[in-house]
Amino acid sequence: MTEKKRLEELLSELGPLTDTKSREDYKSDFPNMGDSQDDNAQEVTQYETNLGKEKVLETRLQKVNIALEKIENGTYGKCLVGGEDIEEARLKVAPEVDTCVKHSG
Ligand SMILES: [Zn+2]
Repeated sequence: MTEKKRLEELLSELGPLTDTKSREDYKSDFPNMGDSQDDNAQEVTQYETNLGKEKVLETRLQKVNIALEKIENGTYGKCLVGGEDIEEARLKVAPEVDTCVKHSG
């Protein structure tokens, strides 16, 4: 399974895409565990946990999508400034970077 597919699956477990045009904006469902006060308190905690997870996953998915677009355009892994190959270790940490270490910042 691709990283994109994996992230999309994890996100859709939390809730649906907010609209079909957006590739990476999901909305966590509010959990329903029951009607007692304890249940409601647990729901809020779970919801907050899910929102945090959602944010992390969405950010990762955005980066993956950016990298995939670059692969399609043939610009993936090339420094935008000098045109040389971007260091592999750097790409592993942040696949969306578009400059080499020397030309970053
Ligand atoms: Zn460079």
